[in-house]
Amino acid sequence: MTGFIDVHTHLHDPRIIENTPDIVLRAQDAGLETIATCATMEENFGITVQLSEKFSSVVPCLGIHPWFLDTLSPDWAQNLGQWLEKIPAGVGETGLDFMDKDADRDLQLEVFKTHLAFACDLNRPINIHIRKAWDAIVKILKHHGPLAAGGVIHSYSGSADLIPVLERFNLHISFSGSVTRPNAKKVGQALKAVSLDRIVFETDTPDIVPQFVLDAHPGETPLNEPANVPEIVRVAAARRGMAFETLALHGYENSLNLFGPILKEKTA
Ligand SMILES: [Zn+2]
Repeated sequence: MTGFIDVHTHLHDPRIIENTPDIVLRAQDAGLETIATCATMEENFGITVQLSEKFSSVVPCLGIHPWFLDTLSPDWAQNLGQWLEKIPAGVGETGLDFMDKDADRDLQLEVFKTHLAFACDLNRPINIHIRKAWDAIVKILKHHGPLAAGGVIHSYSGSADLIPVLERFNLHISFSGSVTRPNAKKVGQALKAVSLDRIVFETDTPDIVPQFVLDAHPGETPLNEPANVPEIVRVAAARRGMAFETLALHGYENSLNLFGPILKEKTA
């Protein structure tokens, strides 16, 4: 059996930070080889890097989430650039979220483009959050061209039709616990549209708790963790109508293509 890689988590989250040794251990027991963990604002760059130094299986990504642009320091771009030059890390979580109509879209676009520029200049993979901003990202990608070290559209919520377009820009499509919702029809269609050499998996720990975890804890509010990746892949394989082992192997190899260079640099 192949290993597994969780391409998108937030291990620094205050709800779980105290339990990270157990969470990482349970992940290892479940067959997880690598966990990518994403910062969300400048304030948690340090703790994200510390987690990657403490646990050999953890790869850091550094960036500013579109929800937290009110935390930007005046020299945030310089700050991010200095961290990225110092630490072998991916870029993110970054992206565009147009769900909230009052969000400052111009600022989101500017901040996202700066992250893209760092990813390409430094040859690092990028972990991207997109909600209701599909036209905007395609426009940016067309202007920018394919991403040098690739990237992940995390917990994909776009249409199946858009997937071939995104794949052409060297993006991978990541599926989370949202594929385990029985009524998630749009995600199910997207799951079938992804090329096997572009599919990856994640938990978005501690959020997007999979259905099988909710079902096992009725009346509770459990948190998510990377150890749930194999079961997410199992549900995805059933929905796509293919063998679990085959889908797991593709997810693993694709994730390794993205994060392998950072892992190598980290352990060098
Ligand atoms: Zn996230």
